[in-house]
Amino acid sequence: MKDLLAEYRSRFVESPGVVAYLDGNSLGRPLAASVDRIAAFATEQWAGRLIRGWDEGWLDLPLAIGDELGRVVLGAAPGQVTIGDSTTVLLYKLVRAAADRDEGRTELVIDRDDFPTDRYVLEGIARERGLTVRWIDEGDVTPDRVAAVVGPKTAVVVLSHIAYRSGFLADIPAITSVVHDAGALMLWDLCHSAGVAPIDLDAAGVDLAVGCTYKYLNGGPGSPAFAYVRAGLHLRQPIQGWLGSRTPFAMGQGYEPADGIRGMLSGTPPIIGMLAMRDMVALIDEVGLDAVRAKSIALTTFAIELADSRLPAARLATPRDPAHRGSHVTLDHPAFESIMPKLWARGVIPDFRRPDGIRLGLSPLSTSFDEVELGVDAIAAELALVS
Ligand SMILES: *Cc1c(COP(=O)(O)O)cnc(C)c1O
Repeated sequence: MKDLLAEYRSRFVESPGVVAYLDGNSLGRPLAASVDRIAAFATEQWAGRLIRGWDEGWLDLPLAIGDELGRVVLGAAPGQVTIGDSTTVLLYKLVRAAADRDEGRTELVIDRDDFPTDRYVLEGIARERGLTVRWIDEGDVTPDRVAAVVGPKTAVVVLSHIAYRSGFLADIPAITSVVHDAGALMLWDLCHSAGVAPIDLDAAGVDLAVGCTYKYLNGGPGSPAFAYVRAGLHLRQPIQGWLGSRTPFAMGQGYEPADGIRGMLSGTPPIIGMLAMRDMVALIDEVGLDAVRAKSIALTTFAIELADSRLPAARLATPRDPAHRGSHVTLDHPAFESIMPKLWARGVIPDFRRPDGIRLGLSPLSTSFDEVELGVDAIAAELALVS
């Protein structure tokens, strides 16, 4: 298999004892450039500038990095993306804001198989505001299935672009347009697609989006999430902190929200946490998202071919059609849970998703075809020992 992006693997820090890292969709590996950037920040910026740093650029970083991410990864013009909080908290802020927009719209729509935090946040908001959650129940999220549950009562629809378990890739433009036809707002969760699949939020007219930066954006454990709010969409978010106010340093009475994306901020931004993602965004910019996507498809295709031939007892939970597939492949087998500790002990690191799935997360800039083969062979060998 010709790997056109092979040279980029050497930009990542090595992990001793790991022979196949297949969990880049849970926690991306660190770039060497990020290690240098964080160390330099500590000495030159934190120690060197101390409190003066806030006025010399730190306070602008959430929106400045947001703009970089918007341009390279999200298809978003400047001024619509900010970095901060966790995905969970940003989901709460944006969904609450969207639900508060129109009192006549009392329903929130989500997929039954979406990531737990997304479901729990919506259920919590429904409880708090006396709203109803409408579920998409019968499988992958297609425009038809969305059309069947939206209507004049829908306030906002929350869906994942790439499903965390199956890897199904939803059609952002088509579904967004179905939701808009019902007069509702569309929020896309991009946790499993940002940095690995092309996204064009502006072109699709998407209203809102959130996503992680520690998965395919390699921001490091717990790096802050991003939020996108379409320019011209005026929403009032529920966590009224000083940095989202119009004049934070006036220290005045009463909260007046800042205009635009700045109004989505709440408290002091997590500066150190947002440094590493800059290097991955710069690398994606250098390589190009289309080339990243091409290798992603080649990697997942290779994984599925290997699974077909060497793991015939496992069931593929991921779409075979690459057009409907993200960058991870999930295989189900009742014995998989029992072999996970053995895989990790031999330096083969996929992850496990209930009830019985091994998930191979393939991060195109850091994962090699050899790692995929080594990983599938290790799974086959361990499975043979227990069955
Ligand atoms: C990873 C992931 C999250 C994680 O949310 P955190 O607040 O960062 O813990 C949320 N939603 C989806 C779809 C995810 O894949």
